[in-house]
Amino acid sequence: MSSFDPAAATAAYLAQLPPAAHEKAQAYTQGGHWLILWGALVSILAAWIILRLGVSRRAAAAVQRRRPRPWLAAFLAAAAFFAVSWVIELPWAAYSGWWRETQYGLTSQPVAGWMTEHLIGGVMGVVVVSLLIMLIYFLIRRAPRLWPVWTGLVVSAFGLFMLFLAPLFIEPIFNKYEPAPPGPVRDMVVAMGRQVGVPTDKILVYNGSKQSNRYTANVSGFLGTSRIAMSDVMFKKDADLAEVRGVVGHEMGHYKRGHLFELIAFFGFGTMIMGFIAQALFPVAARLLGGWGVTGIADPAGLPILMILVTIIGVLATPAINTMVRFPESDADRYSLENFNEPDGLARALVKTIDYRAATPSKLEEVLFYDHPAVSVRIRRAMDWKAAHLGEPPRP
Ligand SMILES: [Zn+2]
Repeated sequence: MSSFDPAAATAAYLAQLPPAAHEKAQAYTQGGHWLILWGALVSILAAWIILRLGVSRRAAAAVQRRRPRPWLAAFLAAAAFFAVSWVIELPWAAYSGWWRETQYGLTSQPVAGWMTEHLIGGVMGVVVVSLLIMLIYFLIRRAPRLWPVWTGLVVSAFGLFMLFLAPLFIEPIFNKYEPAPPGPVRDMVVAMGRQVGVPTDKILVYNGSKQSNRYTANVSGFLGTSRIAMSDVMFKKDADLAEVRGVVGHEMGHYKRGHLFELIAFFGFGTMIMGFIAQALFPVAARLLGGWGVTGIADPAGLPILMILVTIIGVLATPAINTMVRFPESDADRYSLENFNEPDGLARALVKTIDYRAATPSKLEEVLFYDHPAVSVRIRRAMDWKAAHLGEPPRP
């Protein structure tokens, strides 16, 4: 019998952080739960202001003085809505996305850098989401009752499209990607990819240290665009190879098990349900909010009303969404352990995530608010795995 005790080993890992650090992590994490609610209230307030000012209504009317142009009207109503709400919500975004992160020492990015990224992301978001909204209004006009079903399918197809495009066009806007330099880290990742059948022709390193000091990696894209991208933090001189193995093994798990496709299907289905609820509640919401000349759900002037409903439904659905997202995270940890047997590497990487996701929430808090399983649970699973496989070498 071995004397390895998984419970004690888990406690030892958690004790690597002093109690003050755990308390700070808890304050940050629990404050973050409230941000979901306040953020939703800010969005609702912005939508209400836009409704009262008639921003979307005027934008749609401006291009339809002579003849109906439903596609253009819907696009402009959406673009005006999202551009104005971006401006109204800017102070909140700066507080929650930059100031608060800086206060907790989770980013050292200067405000100008954050602002530039927020602006680029905002412009791209306005264009892309407005195109999507334009298509959804077409579906509402063509299929007044069953548009939520078509919208769910469109959202899933759109997710696939973005998965394909992101590595090519979106990610390079925010970070610089280069082929990974030769050396022990690259050799190890190539061997890992060969072992489990992840394409290793494109292993990239990006300047993730600009945003954070975390060991982050992702395996993304599909068809011809698949690649492994690793933060440059993992290529620093004192990088911990076992930790890199644990983390990259987790990411390869997401890729090999098709988790992104599962989530895209789930979000498409969720969009359908959300659409049916919004459809049922729209007349009531329009009446409660005062109407403002909106003729019905097919009228793009009513986009602010629709967005208020979507925001409320989204907040209420947060626990269900989080719970769905936690499953693939547990699965990816298991994949990493089963294929690469690096429980201590994984545990060391997990300890570093406690700063922004407190390690020991109550079960209820985990279910409601955690999009990853609690670190205490994940480390314990790794230590249980270690206890069951003592003496086996890392693989390969
Ligand atoms: Zn993951």
